[in-house]
Amino acid sequence: MNNELKPEFLAEYYEKKFPMDYFMSFIGLSNFSNREFGFVVGKDAFVRNISFQNTDQLREYMINNAVKHAYVGAIYDTSPSRESPIQKIEWKGREFIFDIDIDEYDLVRKCGCKGDQYCKECWSLVQDAAIFIDETMKDDFGFKDVIWIFSGRRGVHGWVMDKITQDFNQAQRVAILNYLTFIHDEKRTQSIEEIPNEAKPLRNRIYSLVAKSFLEKSTPEQLKELGISLNKAKEIIQNVQLSKQFNHTQYNIIIPNDTLVRRKLSDEFILRRYPRIDRKVTMDTRRVSRMPYSVHGKTGQIAIVIKDIRNFYPDSAPTIWESLM
Ligand SMILES: [Zn+2]
Repeated sequence: MNNELKPEFLAEYYEKKFPMDYFMSFIGLSNFSNREFGFVVGKDAFVRNISFQNTDQLREYMINNAVKHAYVGAIYDTSPSRESPIQKIEWKGREFIFDIDIDEYDLVRKCGCKGDQYCKECWSLVQDAAIFIDETMKDDFGFKDVIWIFSGRRGVHGWVMDKITQDFNQAQRVAILNYLTFIHDEKRTQSIEEIPNEAKPLRNRIYSLVAKSFLEKSTPEQLKELGISLNKAKEIIQNVQLSKQFNHTQYNIIIPNDTLVRRKLSDEFILRRYPRIDRKVTMDTRRVSRMPYSVHGKTGQIAIVIKDIRNFYPDSAPTIWESLM
C-alpha cells in the first residue's frame, strides 16, 4: 500500500470522515466565530489568525486547503483575522490543556528510544503521567471532566473540560502547574520529603503511582545500585507487584529505614518517572492545540480521544488510510 499522505486523501478525510459534530462537542458552539484556528497548509506554511462564521466554512477550508495539521486556539472579543490578529484583540477564554510528549523523557529513558521513537517500555511514562495528572485534577482540584487526546505522533494532550477553567487567566493556570510541578523544579534538587503539608494528596499520589511504577518495573540489580541489598530488593519488587493498592504506608514498611537509601530512591523515581509537562502549552493562553480528530500530517494518524489511557498505545490509533478504506 502506498502510504504517502496525498492532498486528495486529506481533502477526502475532511469531507467525508472528520466528525465535525463530535469535534464541536469539545469546544462548544458559543463564540465560534471569535475562535482562532491555525493550520499547516501547502508547503508547510503555518497560518494563524483564521476564524470562521460557521462549521461549514471550517470544513470547507480544511477540504480546499487539504490541511496537513489543524489547530484550535482561544476565543477573542472579535473574529481573529489578518487585519485583527490575536495580539491586537482581547483574549476571552481557552480550554485548560496539558501536553505530555515522550521526547521530554529523552535524558532518562533507558530503553534506547530517542526523540519520536517509542516502545512499550517508555510509552508507559506517558501513560503514567496522564493518569497522575488526571487524578490530581479530579481529586485535588475537584474538576469532573478530563479527556485525553492522542497527539498523532509521540504524546497526548489532556483537556480539562470543566467550563470554569475556560476563564482561567495565565496566573491561575501557572498556579495549578506549580502545584503539579513543584517537586519537578529545573534543577531537580527538591526532595519529596520537603513537600509541604497542604500538598499531602500529591505526595501520597507520588508513592501510590510514581514509586509503585518505578519499583515494580525495576530489576533487583537496579535497586542494588541505590544501596539496597539484592535479597531485600527482590522482596520489595515482589511486594509491590502483588500489591493491589500500593500507598505511602506500605512504602514506609517495605523500604529500609535508612535516610540515605530513601533519599537516593525517591530522587531516582522522581527523576525517572515523575510527569514531565510542557509548561508552555499549559501557561500560554494564546497557543493553538491540535484539533481532536484531525490528521497528523507526518504520521497520517488521527488525533483520537483516548478511551482508556492505560490500554492505549500509539500504534493502535487509526490512520487516515484506514479511515478512508
Ligand atoms: Zn522506548
